[in-house]
Amino acid sequence: MTDSPSARAANLVHLRRRGLKKGDPVPLPLTLAAMYNLPGDPAGFAQYGRFNNPTWDAVEEILGHLEAAPAVAFPSGMAAISATFFSLLKGGDRVLLPSDGYYTTRVLAERFLKPLGVTFDLRATAAYLDGGFDGYRLVFVETPANPGLDLCDIAAVAAAAHAAGATVVADNTTMTAYGQRPLDLGADIVVAADTKAPGGHSDVLFGHVASRDDAVIAAARDWRKLSGAIPGPFEAWLVHRGLETLEVRFDRMCSSAETIARRLREHPKIEAIRFPGLEDDPSHALALAQMDRFGFLIGVTLASQEAAEGFIDRCALIQPATSFGGVHTSAERRARWGDAVAPGFVRLSVGCEPVEELWSAIEQALG
Ligand SMILES: *Cc1c(COP(=O)(O)O)cnc(C)c1O
Repeated sequence: MTDSPSARAANLVHLRRRGLKKGDPVPLPLTLAAMYNLPGDPAGFAQYGRFNNPTWDAVEEILGHLEAAPAVAFPSGMAAISATFFSLLKGGDRVLLPSDGYYTTRVLAERFLKPLGVTFDLRATAAYLDGGFDGYRLVFVETPANPGLDLCDIAAVAAAAHAAGATVVADNTTMTAYGQRPLDLGADIVVAADTKAPGGHSDVLFGHVASRDDAVIAAARDWRKLSGAIPGPFEAWLVHRGLETLEVRFDRMCSSAETIARRLREHPKIEAIRFPGLEDDPSHALALAQMDRFGFLIGVTLASQEAAEGFIDRCALIQPATSFGGVHTSAERRARWGDAVAPGFVRLSVGCEPVEELWSAIEQALG
């Protein structure tokens, strides 16, 4: 297969080579520029730092390579989601959002879309096909949903939503393009927080919008240029560097998560577990059908808040933190943010540590 995830990974690190002149640096230069040399007619040239930056271009080239679609870079995942909402929606439109997805997306809709006359409904990810899509301008899916890890069938949602005249947006943060490609399954737009696994080192916030619809890309670019929600060149440079090793990190993280989920499932201290790779997970058949990997996030429920906090604090190889996708394994008790999950529910983000060392530390901390 020429367009397999491994073919994309192999070519990704050689993309720059095509444009290199003799004597050019092989790695990507960081270009910090508000001004460009611009005498005479400005058309067709880099003009101003809010419009153009060669370091953005480089990160967009590899994001576009991974998505097989043009991509527009943003300073965070929420900036990418905001760009999609504010560049496509107008007063009177209706939006469908997951009730169990990333919390801030719903708060953004409540706080800033609603006053502009854009209404929204919430629906559980696992039941996304129930109730149809009539009357929606935009249908937003997040699968696996963060933090509960329920899935929805992207191809089936896209077919039904398109028949109802809606545009389908998929938040692909939990999987990255190496784990799932929503555009190939029929979604119109991908949004993602590259803050997570693509950056990979927990030192940068970043996001992108990708689409095969030229009008969507043009609108996202206009939004970025006019709203001023532009990524910093250094952040773009860091994410470019992160993307060069994403495949090897993602592979390790997903493989380790499969091993650890199987063992946690048998552990007496674990009351419930969600991981799409487990044969008895309610999402397993769908995961096999639409995902290339099962991801690196595991949801585990311990007996109580105390048991969950104690486990996270005791484990030498778990960093207590919000966010996920870093090289270090991290975890948090999601009820502390008010998510609709059990008090002892922990979202575990499996990192790049050697798996047997990681398992020993987890087993010891579980006691
Ligand atoms: C983290 C996250 C976001 C937001 O990303 P930021 O870079 O923090 O703005 C959006 N969606 C999902 C699913 C996330 O996990």
